[in-house]
Amino acid sequence: SKVRIYTLAKDLGVENAKMLELLDGLGVSYKSVSSTIEEETVELIKEMLAEEAAQEGGAAAPQTAATQAATPDAEQDAPTGTPAAAPAQADVSEVPHRAPVVTIMGHVDHGKTSLLDYIRKTKVAAKEAGGITQHVGAFEAQTSKGKIVFIDTPGHEAFTTIRARGANVADIAIIVIAADDSLMPQTREAIAHAQAANVPMLIAINKVDLPQADPDRVKTDLTQLNLVPEEYGGDLVVVPVSAKTGEGVEDLLEYISLTAELEDLRADPKGTFGGVIIEGKVDKQAGVLATVMVQEGTLHVSDFLVVGESYGKIKAMTDSNGNRIKEAGPSTPVQVLGFSEVPSSGEKVQSARNEHAAREIVAQRADERRDAENARVQRRLTLEEMMGPLGSVRTVNLILRADTQGSVEAIQGILARKESDDVKINVMLAGIGAPTEGDVLLASTAEATILCFSVTASGGVKKVAEGKGVDIKSFRIIYELIDEVDRLIKGNVEPVF
Ligand code: GDP
Repeated sequence: SKVRIYTLAKDLGVENAKMLELLDGLGVSYKSVSSTIEEETVELIKEMLAEEAAQEGGAAAPQTAATQAATPDAEQDAPTGTPAAAPAQADVSEVPHRAPVVTIMGHVDHGKTSLLDYIRKTKVAAKEAGGITQHVGAFEAQTSKGKIVFIDTPGHEAFTTIRARGANVADIAIIVIAADDSLMPQTREAIAHAQAANVPMLIAINKVDLPQADPDRVKTDLTQLNLVPEEYGGDLVVVPVSAKTGEGVEDLLEYISLTAELEDLRADPKGTFGGVIIEGKVDKQAGVLATVMVQEGTLHVSDFLVVGESYGKIKAMTDSNGNRIKEAGPSTPVQVLGFSEVPSSGEKVQSARNEHAAREIVAQRADERRDAENARVQRRLTLEEMMGPLGSVRTVNLILRADTQGSVEAIQGILARKESDDVKINVMLAGIGAPTEGDVLLASTAEATILCFSVTASGGVKKVAEGKGVDIKSFRIIYELIDEVDRLIKGNVEPVF
């Protein structure tokens, strides 16, 4: 009988990534780890693993073609029965795995907050005496598959604000779609944001407890965005859940862990510290409090932290359950007391050995900023900067906003025909209604132009766009909009002097 890839991996005690690699070697096609494979294939896999174990027991000789593309760690993860693989294969795999950081996005009222609440209620270890549970921007859920860190601010604004500062915090995005409402404008936005960040997506179809729930419609609608659920032969993981009854939440967590495993997330607790600000605030009693996500290395009380052009010494740290802690390793959100100024979410955090070193970093950054400012005034763009690397396919990134679905589709249809071998037109997001601040952030991270048809940006959004150097252009006639796209394409193809 057939068996799912991840089930087999589990049974054989092999990582999913390893299993996929073996299947690749056998030339067996699959869509994802939840695809099923034939019994004969299962036998072959077992043989290959046994052979590998025998070989590694010997001299860790190069293996079959199946593992040619293998990363060294995948080989070490195989259940070889031997204590350690050859030393030459050491490096990457010695860096330990870290927990995934997950963000939940989706349309308003589709249940993002409810889902986070359900997970927090059921999966967060009871706080210890003296701990005060409070919103710190992230929390750690304990699951049977290990720790999963959730960013506690639902919605794509937080996600993109962080990305707009050049940081990436989330490893996986959960897109919540209500089963009684299907795809809505903000669902499309959330998907565009996850895609722009190149973050793997899982779809949670929520509210399946409702009588009017129609998960099939959601799946069909997704297909129209070229996101094809596994059941329909694609590779999109879609999990039906109810934040109300808890149905499916366990499956969702399991899929998160599976995805994390495939992503092979690692960070070295002994490495140089690196982190990102999740949020900062002023507490009337305590002073400046900031939640830092530790991404690399370990943070200790009394370390000096540098954010932007300010620094501070950590006076105290608490974990997301409100417990005092002395140190925190990778994928741990910690609330830190000791910053002198309120840092903004998305700012990168470095550490310094002592105050002197912290000051030096700050001084150097101030210098660099001034130099960059001067340079910007003086410098002319080089040809390469204007055109992108020579000989490569260039991409025009666009965000499209129009008054009706009909216009959106009409414009997309025309744009598709403008593509050529040299220029790709990437419509990152096409939506109905005026452009939002979220669009501007998305555009600024991707250097996209926002094109509006029969809608205009509000004053506030225009201001943000100006501040970020994002172009918003509005048109009332489709062909004028298309002319503008032609100009963008030309600008990308040949230099205009
Ligand atoms: P958000 O805006 O995406 O954060 O959505 P909320 O979590 O605030 O949920 C919006 C509404 O939907 C609230 O009234 C919730 O009680 C309700 N809701 C959320 N999840 C479910 C669910 O799984 N089943 C049902 N029946 N209602 C839900």
